[in-house]
Amino acid sequence: MAPKSPVKNKKSARTPLARWERVAGGRLLTNDAGCHALLGEKDFARVMAGGITKKDPLFKRLAAAGFVRESMDFEGLAAKWRTLNAHLDQGPGLHILVLTLRCNHKCLYCQSSAAGEGAKKTDMDRRTALASVDFAFTSPNPLITIEFQGGEPLLNWDVLKAAVKRAREKAAATGKELKLALVSNFTLMTEEKARFLLENEVSICTSLDGPADLHNKNRIFAGGNSHAATVRWIKYFQEKHARQSQQYRVFKPGALLTVSRQSLPRWKEIIEEYAALGLEDIFVRPLAPIGYARGLWDKIGYTPEEFQEFYGRCLDYILALNRRGTVMREKTAAMMLEKIVNATEPGYLDARCPCGAAIGQIAYNYNGDLFTCDEGRMVGWEGDDIFRVGNVFKDSLRKVLASPAARACVVSSNLEAQPECSRCAYKPYCGVCPVYNYEAQGSLWGNMRSNGRCSLFKGVFAAIFKRLGNARDKKVLESWVAKK
Ligand code: SF4
Ligand code: SF4
Repeated sequence: MAPKSPVKNKKSARTPLARWERVAGGRLLTNDAGCHALLGEKDFARVMAGGITKKDPLFKRLAAAGFVRESMDFEGLAAKWRTLNAHLDQGPGLHILVLTLRCNHKCLYCQSSAAGEGAKKTDMDRRTALASVDFAFTSPNPLITIEFQGGEPLLNWDVLKAAVKRAREKAAATGKELKLALVSNFTLMTEEKARFLLENEVSICTSLDGPADLHNKNRIFAGGNSHAATVRWIKYFQEKHARQSQQYRVFKPGALLTVSRQSLPRWKEIIEEYAALGLEDIFVRPLAPIGYARGLWDKIGYTPEEFQEFYGRCLDYILALNRRGTVMREKTAAMMLEKIVNATEPGYLDARCPCGAAIGQIAYNYNGDLFTCDEGRMVGWEGDDIFRVGNVFKDSLRKVLASPAARACVVSSNLEAQPECSRCAYKPYCGVCPVYNYEAQGSLWGNMRSNGRCSLFKGVFAAIFKRLGNARDKKVLESWVAKK
């Protein structure tokens, strides 16, 4: 909402365009440069009524954040806006290679609707993998991240190895920075594979849904104990990281938590499981009622309010652990704090304006088809190619970026064009998802008034700003994104 401030006298401060939102204990004010101010109700009323003057202690704080019309530092604010939106002219940096649709798990919530382990013609062949790597390096982005996903990508090991080698060669030839990442359930990991991944500086990420019974209930593995394999290899890579190597960098392993209905009462045990394994980041990811999860929503889903309560409890417990000396961050909060506290864009492609579809990331399907993102690829797997942007053998990056799907995603995820978002106080830090909108509401634009993802984001922002309003929590939260 853009408040109008009636001017009482010429000395009082007037507010330029700002958006506000009620948060616990007062109001949050934000502007397009990403600056924010948390005000108590009385101060907020005074500011809106034009009732503060230069002598007021609030004046300096509000003026520094660009909330006083007479003291606008336009160049400074424009520089902040530029930093916050630096991704806009970089080109796609994240390239997701779907090495196979096959998986040896049948996870309850699996949005990729993976094929069974024995499925035929669902692996990426070597030629397609190499062409995909070459295509990724046509992006003007100076940092190329290639992420190997599936299904379970270790089921297509030889092609993964070939793609890693090609990516290293391309990085050396082009001078671009390269990051390689593997998302795996670890059940097919061996010492030999681990050694190759370590030597080639491939960072590793897995799924960990909590203690053994909860994890195994969500992540069904007919071939054995999914939790045991996950924990074993997390420990292995943690140990390698602790010892490092003279020849290459060893990254800390990462883990993702997918929150199902079963997770809701078990927030404390889940966090403790992560802490016991020495995992310093926990990515608390809500389920979306799309793909395979949609049909099971009654069994595994929950309301945005239920997630908000769960998320708040997790955040409070993580903050308490931090105060007791445990190093741990909640990843969504940390990425949002990068924007809120440091005014920098952390590479969170799903919370950008416009979102990362095609302009920030590309998903390379096993058969060479290109999609706006992995979520768009999953819609394609259900038989609807609306998010297909081209083919790695037939199209250039220029053609992909000019494709109808890419352009439609850019337009529909532009928050200025979203009626609710354009007036929302969380706009400088948020983003909408055309895939979610299409799947859940039948159009790329969706309707934020009744959009479940928007409600979830509002809950997460409210939880973060509530804690930023508390000096003790603020200190910990700011330490998560302290500039080095
Ligand atoms: S998606 Fe929702 S929370 Fe995000 S900017 Fe739009 S209205 Fe605000
Ligand atoms: S469409 Fe959705 S999932 Fe795809 S990049 Fe945009 S926000 Fe992310």
